[in-house]
Amino acid sequence: MTTGTEIIFSSLGLASLFANISLAITLFLKYKQLGQLNKVTASLKQSLEEMDEQAKMIVRTDLQLNKTQEELDKKVGGLYALQKLSQSLNKTLDQNQVFVCINQNLIEEMGFQKCLIYAEDSSHGKIYLKYQTGYPEQEITRIKNTTSAEELYSIIKKKNLTLSSLSAESNFRKTAGSLLGADSFVIAPIVKKEGIIGLILLGASSQEATLTEGDEEIISILASQIGQTLDNAELFEAAYRHHQELEKKVIERTKELNETLNELKILSRRKTDFVSAVSHELRTPLTSIKGYVSILLTEKLGKVPPEVKERLIKINRHSDELTHLVNDMLDIARIESGKFEMKLQSLNLYNIAETALDLLGPQLKDKGASAKITINPRSPGILADKTQIDRVFINLIGNAVKFVPQEMGLIKISALELTDLIQINISDNGIGMNQEDCQRIFEEFYRVDNTINQTVKGTGLGLTLVKNIIREQRRKIWAESKINQGSTFSFTLPSTK
Ligand code: ADP
Repeated sequence: MTTGTEIIFSSLGLASLFANISLAITLFLKYKQLGQLNKVTASLKQSLEEMDEQAKMIVRTDLQLNKTQEELDKKVGGLYALQKLSQSLNKTLDQNQVFVCINQNLIEEMGFQKCLIYAEDSSHGKIYLKYQTGYPEQEITRIKNTTSAEELYSIIKKKNLTLSSLSAESNFRKTAGSLLGADSFVIAPIVKKEGIIGLILLGASSQEATLTEGDEEIISILASQIGQTLDNAELFEAAYRHHQELEKKVIERTKELNETLNELKILSRRKTDFVSAVSHELRTPLTSIKGYVSILLTEKLGKVPPEVKERLIKINRHSDELTHLVNDMLDIARIESGKFEMKLQSLNLYNIAETALDLLGPQLKDKGASAKITINPRSPGILADKTQIDRVFINLIGNAVKFVPQEMGLIKISALELTDLIQINISDNGIGMNQEDCQRIFEEFYRVDNTINQTVKGTGLGLTLVKNIIREQRRKIWAESKINQGSTFSFTLPSTK
């Protein structure tokens, strides 16, 4: 049987049991919560680690981007400097000026501090320092005294290696680096049409960003640009030298020609003076011969036997021919010496032609030839010296009569109105002549070797006189002819319309 105390005790025990149970439950629940908390903490830790990793990656990427940006800036700077240099090089036509275009600023804009340019001396094949920048005096002396550049040059020339393979060779790198006094550098051969003729070396100090392939590209473009400019300048210099030589030759030749021309002028003047003096001297005795012959022929001094008369008539004819020749020679000499004064006036062309035909009437009749003037009597006048233009017409028509066939001769005198001039044509259906003779008949004493000239006498001076008269008025005279078909003599004179 259970007592009250026992009941109290058992109640207390129960309560404590419950309390323990609830404690245990609470503890269990707390423990569970703690486990969950640990899990959360672990996942938080992981997240934090991941975030840290990402942050590091972002920083790395940013650094990378900055570097790339720097490189890009450098490349753009290099390209900009290269473009500036190209512009100056393109304007350069002097080989020495090519190296003046390169300067420290440009080198720095390309991302370098030091530059050495070597060029080959074609006379002995060795290279010499053509340009340097970025070095103090004592350094330049060191550079000039070392043979490193020659070593590098002979390697490049002998092996003909590419730039990148050269840079990869450690010996090559060492020599180049110590020559330049730089850790990072680029070397490029300067190539002209005939091959490698020099070297360009550019160096950057170690603090600078390391050189990239882009730098090599830029420098090889620069080197080839220098090579091309040197080629162009050489071509220009050669062309210029050639031009100078030609000009010198032309000047010398012109001087010689002028001297010859002056000598010829002096000779021609002497000849003209001589001809005119002799002609004058001949005129006086000729006039007396003709006078005496005329007196004898009148038989005032006594009867002249027929056989003597016949001889006297011949003397008279020959004297006439001689007088004609002497007069022509005198006129040619006078025109050539400039002592001939033309009295220009407006003349009717038709009248001149008609007068000439009237004068030559007997010859035309003898030859059985006909002549036709196809000039409008009212056509504009010509400006000429009356006496001289009559001589021109008489000479030309007289020749036409001389060279047309017996009984079949046809002579035409026509005119063509040009802008300010009148072209006069005198044509015939005579013996004609070839092209070469056509050019030469205006020369003094030139006569074509043909059947008519072998029998009919002439001086070869008529056309020279005609040419001189026309030329005196600064006009032209020319002949067109075909053998056995005929000739046309044409000349121009100013019209007075
Ligand atoms: P010439 O008549 O005294 O020989 P010119 O100076 O008048 O001298 O003429 C030179 C030459 O030109 C003539 O000898 C002749 O051979 C040639 N010639 C001139 N006119 C004619 C013509 N109309 N037809 C063919 N030949 C001509």
